[in-house]
Amino acid sequence: MAAKPFASSADLGEKTETLEVLADGVYALTAEGDPNVGAIEGEDFLVAFEARATPVAARDWLAQLRKHTDKPVKYLVLSHYHAVRVLGASAYDAEVIVAHDNTRRLIEERGKQDWDSEFGRMPRLFREPDSIPGLTWPDMTFNDSMTIGLGGDRGDLVLQYCGRGHTAGDIVAWLPRQKVLFAGDLVEAEAALYTGDAFHTDWSTGTLDRVKAFGAETLVGGRGAVPRGRETVDAAIEQTRDFLLVMREKVGEVHARGGSLTDAFEATHTSLEPKFGAWPIFEHCLPFDVSRLWDELNGIDWPRIWTAERDREVWDELQG
Ligand SMILES: [Zn+2]
Repeated sequence: MAAKPFASSADLGEKTETLEVLADGVYALTAEGDPNVGAIEGEDFLVAFEARATPVAARDWLAQLRKHTDKPVKYLVLSHYHAVRVLGASAYDAEVIVAHDNTRRLIEERGKQDWDSEFGRMPRLFREPDSIPGLTWPDMTFNDSMTIGLGGDRGDLVLQYCGRGHTAGDIVAWLPRQKVLFAGDLVEAEAALYTGDAFHTDWSTGTLDRVKAFGAETLVGGRGAVPRGRETVDAAIEQTRDFLLVMREKVGEVHARGGSLTDAFEATHTSLEPKFGAWPIFEHCLPFDVSRLWDELNGIDWPRIWTAERDREVWDELQG
């Protein structure tokens, strides 16, 4: 078999971006499996959810959003620390950039390495990379939850930590009145999961239980279309859990019998491929995913830092 091109480095086809109005003043931009972003209107301000990979990519989204509202961005909420979600922040001119305490810690610890790693894995998302002024730093962080009153009869926006999951610091944004949940990368709708910095056990149990308990009727996941209706929302959450449970079962079996990382990768690939293989970033993510879970089973609690070099080593070992 010919070697697969590294991660998403050969994925160069532009995606169609669609702005969806989910409720009065509630917006999402989806992009056929590329990272989703969102925005929520307050009476006289905006809350933006996720920043995109570069200021130039962010400005494309803001140009679409500006057809609906010209309110200034007061809060920019970062669901987690990953480069393709945060490095476009300067385009928003936000008063306050908000994230979880652990997201600040992760940016301090590995922000630069993650930037280099993600740029190598997904170059297409880094539209005009020279427009990035540097790492994105949150102005305000919290550990459990934070509520933003939207004013008028718009209700509240609740930013909530649901436990360790896709990273140590994912937060979701919940609109109780509109029953819309922005779930970040904790839930993917028909896109493969990236779990290279994840906590598989926590994510597949208590964290997803807490996400499901909101009872959302509309959910914006990290990638993929927007599920609407309770059944469809719950199906997306359970499909995310299923991906994690298959990983835990297959990697766990190989680990328990003293097999190798390569055996674990092959077993997991074989099990997931029929259901998830055609979804965006499946081949890209799986080597990094299995490698992180292998570490977890070896008792490495805090995820090791991905660097451009380590990315290539793991790729060559498992997908080369
Ligand atoms: Zn992510």
